[in-house]
Amino acid sequence: MKLGIVGLPNVGKSTLFNAITNAGAESANYPFCTIDPNVGVVAVPDERLDFLRDLYSPKKYTPAVIEFVDIAGLVRGASKGEGLGNKFLSNIRATDAVVHVVRCFDDADVVHVEGGADPLRDIEIINIELIMADMEMVERRIDKAKKAGKGGDKKFLHEAEVFEGLLAHLNDGKAARSYDGAPEDMELIATSELLSLKPVIYAANMDEKSFAAGYEKNAYYQTVKTYADGEESQVLPICAKTEQEIAELPDEDKQLFLEELGIRESGLDRLIKCSYSLLGLISFLTAGSDEVRAWTIRRGTKAPQAAGKIHSDFERGFIRAEVVAFDDLKACGTMAVARERGLIRSEGKEYVMKDGDVVTYRFNV
Ligand code: GDP
Repeated sequence: MKLGIVGLPNVGKSTLFNAITNAGAESANYPFCTIDPNVGVVAVPDERLDFLRDLYSPKKYTPAVIEFVDIAGLVRGASKGEGLGNKFLSNIRATDAVVHVVRCFDDADVVHVEGGADPLRDIEIINIELIMADMEMVERRIDKAKKAGKGGDKKFLHEAEVFEGLLAHLNDGKAARSYDGAPEDMELIATSELLSLKPVIYAANMDEKSFAAGYEKNAYYQTVKTYADGEESQVLPICAKTEQEIAELPDEDKQLFLEELGIRESGLDRLIKCSYSLLGLISFLTAGSDEVRAWTIRRGTKAPQAAGKIHSDFERGFIRAEVVAFDDLKACGTMAVARERGLIRSEGKEYVMKDGDVVTYRFNV
């Protein structure tokens, strides 16, 4: 899973990204992750995994991870090739979702490219660039569908109609994700790689004082929240500067620092959790003396496909999954007691995985 961090210059993207890389998991341990200075890999905090580690003392401990990509360089006119323009846009295309950092702090020492802080204007500058890039793609798609439908093929004529409806929506300056099409039309739209279709978390970046005083009282935050609510996107109040300070502390001091600030959870942890739920992700767990590990899947994934995350042989040769809910295992204390109490279920190939399932797969090789 990959999230792109976007926003205008000087809004706090690098500060947030630095916090992510400082807190980051060693990407060498995650061969499937890109090794790139603009990519930070963070572990998804999971207390269940900590419990399993205590239970098994495994040789290896592997939390689920999320990749964040710092996508710098978006300015007004990017869709027309200004700044890094097209390179920037293609970087966004490669992500699953977007974290849009919005400046919600005043600071005369930090230049704002567009003048003073004005969250609504800033959000719209970025969104309009994405929407304009999408309009070009949609126009091309309509042309193609119309050509293909010349002989009267209904499928293509319908496709052209669907994308024309979307084009009118984009033309009003609205993001593709807020388009209210029929479910089957939305599925068709999802086959195009539109930027403004990606789910978004608006990260309202506040100064330390204002964040500590209670973010709800910050008028800039309220503006961002109203906008996000309007398109059913998420909003995350955060102070990137504080996050960077927290990330630089040794682990044992982090909790203490958070307590001093009167916060339960770091903004980074909230960002990770928010990304997880935004993308409809859950984790299942595998545990043994070799490795304790969390695996990321989409909600609704069935047992064989989940097994395929571990190894394609597991999916191909799938027989059964032995599953115990994490809470049951925790209540029992050990796998042996869970077995005695009949809490380990044997599930077949139609079983839909649940968050926190602890699984052992049986498969043919
Ligand atoms: P980017 O261009 O979006 O990557 O922005 P940076 O992360 O480089 O931040 C630009 C400037 O804003 C830096 O000098 C940061 O120290 C400052 N900055 C970032 N976040 C905050 C914040 O929460 N409060 C204040 N006062 N300054 C911040």
